[in-house]
Amino acid sequence: TTIYIPRDSAALAVGANRVAKKMAEEAAARGIELNIVRNGSRGMMWLETLVEVATPAGRVAYGPVTVKDVPALFDAGFPSAESHPLHHGLTDAMPYLKGQERLTFARMGITDPVSLPDYEAHEGYAGLRAALALAPEAIVQQVFDSGLRGRGGAAFPAGIKWKTVAGVQAAQKYIVCNADEGDSGTFSDRMTMEGDPFMLIEGMTIAGLAVGATRGYIYCRSEYPHAIAALNEAIVNAEAAGFLGDNVLGSGKAFRLEVRKGAGSYVCGEETALLESIEGKRGIVRAKPPLPAIEGLFGQPTVINNVITFASVPVILAKGAEHYKNFGMGRSRGTLPMQLAGNIKHGGLVEKAFGVSLRELVMDYGGGTMSGRPIKAIQVGGPLGPYVPEKHWDLPFDYESFAAAGATVGHGGIVVHDDTADMAELARYAMEFCKLESCGKCTPCRIGSTRGVEVIDKITRNQNRAQQVILLRDLCDTMVNGSLCAMGNMTPLPVLSALNHWPQDFGLETPDQA
Ligand code: SF4
Repeated sequence: TTIYIPRDSAALAVGANRVAKKMAEEAAARGIELNIVRNGSRGMMWLETLVEVATPAGRVAYGPVTVKDVPALFDAGFPSAESHPLHHGLTDAMPYLKGQERLTFARMGITDPVSLPDYEAHEGYAGLRAALALAPEAIVQQVFDSGLRGRGGAAFPAGIKWKTVAGVQAAQKYIVCNADEGDSGTFSDRMTMEGDPFMLIEGMTIAGLAVGATRGYIYCRSEYPHAIAALNEAIVNAEAAGFLGDNVLGSGKAFRLEVRKGAGSYVCGEETALLESIEGKRGIVRAKPPLPAIEGLFGQPTVINNVITFASVPVILAKGAEHYKNFGMGRSRGTLPMQLAGNIKHGGLVEKAFGVSLRELVMDYGGGTMSGRPIKAIQVGGPLGPYVPEKHWDLPFDYESFAAAGATVGHGGIVVHDDTADMAELARYAMEFCKLESCGKCTPCRIGSTRGVEVIDKITRNQNRAQQVILLRDLCDTMVNGSLCAMGNMTPLPVLSALNHWPQDFGLETPDQA
């Protein structure tokens, strides 16, 4: 019998390796033959370690399995232990997965992440093969027609960026993947790199063919050692099979890929600081223009996109732009792998077409708070995303609708807080975070964040509160309009959303009191 035990770090963190070892020992002691495959995670984090058993009807799930559950599972008849309380029936029939629209994450948790034959057996490399039959301009057109926008947060149309790079003449162009996923509560990039690394490699290779770039770099944060290991193993396997190298699948076109490890700076997730870092310099933001598409890595035209953007490309090429575009709403086409985190009962990854509401995600999928208390605020889009109050939880998830309500989609990170959250404390935390992570290049961010912490402290201590609130708003205005990059531009968003929607936490009756 084949069973699956994830190698994803969320599963490893709760003891998946120990579970795998114990399963092998217990099976051997009982004379049961088990073939253990280490897969990626299905994204139901509260059920990790999720052990799945292959059956003729499909995979059957057991979870969360700990080492101490293993003997009892075997006593109940594992690998067929239907009476055991950890048995959930067919994995694909579980409501959390059944309602999702997994275009990008279709293989996630299904395959052995570093097995190329497994990848190909599950539609892997169909996108690259389709791309190789097209002229470079036609590949770019497919990406443009799909409506794919940068999934890292800026939501810039990927097709336009690719077209710009394709249109510049240069001896060397680059494809750079931003895998610095530093936003709190986000893990879709990590899951991709650990659970389906070939998908990212394939997407970057297609980008290389489309714009005429022969070299690519994946800039991955150092906090992701398992992702880096999986990527490096997958790159070696892809090279050995001719999917990477000087002659990609006999096409005569070259594409080589390398992983670069970050060094713990949040700002290196900003694309120009990231390029500086790859070049071996200190990660400081560059002023734009020039755009990286014209003068990027080593001064050459560069496509820089995040992991999920590249990972969305293979399915677009394999199934066609129209197929992808049919998901979503308005100018937000396709799907977004959203990540439920914070104080939530069923944290994990939910890939849905744009248009789903926050309430549906957090209540229907997430099951409400872990604490069982009412939800107070939801932060969407990382530590610099605003806190969304209940009146906006029914908005459709869509870049434009969110922007109109003063919210951000960002990288699809959703962090839930219950009614015990102190919003003034969270606002202070945003300024504190900016103070720690600011690259220091511009004054509003470098100095403003320090002053921001002080001003919020004065407000909560009621030292000339009304005056300090005016000062805080003024400071936020300066940071939004006077900072060079999103770090300084966006830090005021969580601060102001907290102040405007929960003034009582700052000791104010209404926001107008200021
Ligand atoms: Fe650096 Fe902050 Fe200015 Fe961005 S806003 S360039 S992080 S100082």
